[in-house]
Amino acid sequence: MAVQVTESTPSVALGPAVALSCRECGQRFDLGPIFACQECFGPLEVAYELPTGDPEGLKKRIEAGPDNIWRYAPLLPVPADVADKPNLNPGFTKLVKADRLAAELGVTGGLYVKDDSGNPTHSFKDRVVAIAVEAARAFGFTTLSCSSTGNLAGAVGAAARRAGFESCVFIPHDLEAGKVVMAAVYGGDLVGIEGNYDDVNRFCSELIGDPLGEGWGFVNVNLRPYYGEGSKTLAYEICEQLGWRLPDQIVIPIASGSQLTKIDKGLKELIALGLVEDRPYKIFGAQAEGCSPVSAAFKAGHDVVRPQKPNTIAKSLAIGNPADGPYVLDIARRTGGAVEDVDDEQIVDAIKLLARAEGIFAETAGGVTVGVTRKLIEDGVLDPSLTTVVLNTGDGLKTLDAVASGPTATIRPDLDAFRAAGLAG
Ligand SMILES: *Cc1c(COP(=O)(O)O)cnc(C)c1O
Ligand SMILES: [Zn+2]
Repeated sequence: MAVQVTESTPSVALGPAVALSCRECGQRFDLGPIFACQECFGPLEVAYELPTGDPEGLKKRIEAGPDNIWRYAPLLPVPADVADKPNLNPGFTKLVKADRLAAELGVTGGLYVKDDSGNPTHSFKDRVVAIAVEAARAFGFTTLSCSSTGNLAGAVGAAARRAGFESCVFIPHDLEAGKVVMAAVYGGDLVGIEGNYDDVNRFCSELIGDPLGEGWGFVNVNLRPYYGEGSKTLAYEICEQLGWRLPDQIVIPIASGSQLTKIDKGLKELIALGLVEDRPYKIFGAQAEGCSPVSAAFKAGHDVVRPQKPNTIAKSLAIGNPADGPYVLDIARRTGGAVEDVDDEQIVDAIKLLARAEGIFAETAGGVTVGVTRKLIEDGVLDPSLTTVVLNTGDGLKTLDAVASGPTATIRPDLDAFRAAGLAG
């Protein structure tokens, strides 16, 4: 590790977070910018002392909070006064009751789209970055960095400016123009790497161990335990927006698998805290066929994930060697869910279906979740009579090339021309 927590960094004030614990062996460590267990190299996650007793009081406190993720500050690794600090304040995005999409897909039990395109940089990544920013502040980092499939680079670039950090982010060189512009416009450094995301990630891991990267907080590497916790807020919001009720089924896209595992963690916390009734829920993971290592492992009945070389239009999900893959398999199997994939054509069809049915323009990752939902219903795996939430994690404006759409007609500005086009009446 280039950066260590020193004796002079006393107990870091990150709200209810009390330690990092190893997901493999349970060993505990002081809160700090570390991400792997020093005993077994397993991934670390944040451990809490969460508020106990009086669920109704906690609900009221949350409901009286700001209209962003900081309403859940009592359940997150952030300082108690987090809402007063400069941050992009993402979250509390719309949970859209998708009745027309439900009719198209044959869902009768209630279908909802959790639409995270409404976040400040138009993807769910603003949630995870917001938490990482507070950890970076607490640990004294001055530069924010990341390895990104696109959306994360934009989220880090924007959050760094707002929160007063330098930034230098790394992306595969061949991303969509919308993602590159979003990552560059905020003014921090943006570096295209000649390789795919897995190459970028490997490069960043080397950089962390090198003096070149000293003092840098990589939101999804050395700050990963904190970053991941941001995804819990999706679970909290979905349940609160359903009237403090668990959905029966959730369909979640998988890149590294972090989001899916932390949504499960968030749901379990709500049950443990008594904020929702304890009843079963099923978690479904969605991948693109051109990068489906977790789906392949699920179908083969494997516990480990064999890396793939990605080739799909769903670039935001194109991680061939997903760090949280084995945990995703575990969760899908334990909850009675599944992991499925759809090909590029099905992704595009699903983007168009969601747009036509609900007026929501999703990026390719949203096409993956909607497409997988359709497939799982057709295959009889997802029960259409149950309450189902589908995540849209990004904005179609960033992946315009995926949907070759244009005007119905282009005409001279006169009524005869419009009549001749045959569109009236
Ligand atoms: C990053 C990302 C995800 C999920 O990422 P995980 O690594 O699995 O947490 C999903 N959708 C979009 C649009 C993303 O950018
Ligand atoms: Zn361990």
